[in-house]
Amino acid sequence: MDTKNRLAIIKERIGEAAIRSGRDLADVTLIAVSKTFPSSAVSEMASLGQVHFGENKIQELVQKTDELGDGSSDHPIDWHFIGHLQRNKAKDLIGRTSLFHGLDSLRLANALQPRLEMRDSTLNCLVQVNVSGEASKFGVEPSQLDSFMDGLSGVARLKIVGLMTLASPVENPEDARGEFAEMKRLAEGVADRFQTGSLVLSMGMSADFEVAIEEGATHVRIGSALFGVRHSRIPE
Ligand SMILES: *Cc1c(COP(=O)(O)O)cnc(C)c1O
Repeated sequence: MDTKNRLAIIKERIGEAAIRSGRDLADVTLIAVSKTFPSSAVSEMASLGQVHFGENKIQELVQKTDELGDGSSDHPIDWHFIGHLQRNKAKDLIGRTSLFHGLDSLRLANALQPRLEMRDSTLNCLVQVNVSGEASKFGVEPSQLDSFMDGLSGVARLKIVGLMTLASPVENPEDARGEFAEMKRLAEGVADRFQTGSLVLSMGMSADFEVAIEEGATHVRIGSALFGVRHSRIPE
């Protein structure tokens, strides 16, 4: 199947999941996760009208944003950084993403703040929550979310606009439904506490995005179902 068909099918499935859960297609943003694929693959998908792209390695984000920037006026590109960021790489992220999905420590927040001050800019962030409880995953524990949010209140250059998670890898996506539902509850709790209005909820990947949408995802991050199987990385 070619890229155009894959994109059309994913959009259709997103639309159907949105309708099933009484939501609007426009409420769900598709992020095409282009990690390991070359800039030419991003350009091709952008030429089909896809705007949002996600990268999870900072070196790869730097490389592709150097090559493609914000796309062209006909085919704009909006970059999302969806990976873990080490504090010593904080400077590389500034100016290269419209939304950072992986804020997972106050130390990282405090490393980003002075860089943003220097450039007189702000950064839209999602707090990554480790809702599956797997030790291998980054993210704030659900029970720590309130105190984490309190800790961020002094970090003015970071605009916290929502939450992100990676659900447990499961064979049957239905088995992830409980984790997505918990994320929705956590997001509502944050929205209530900080009077923010509705929050971004970034969850759902190729294997489980429909269930994530049914449980309230506003942003789904889809790689392999759009670009095909990932083989190797661009050397770092
Ligand atoms: C790779 C990746 C995805 C996309 O995964 P697929 O299973 O290929 O859709 C989504 N989110 C994050 C954080 C990723 O690293």
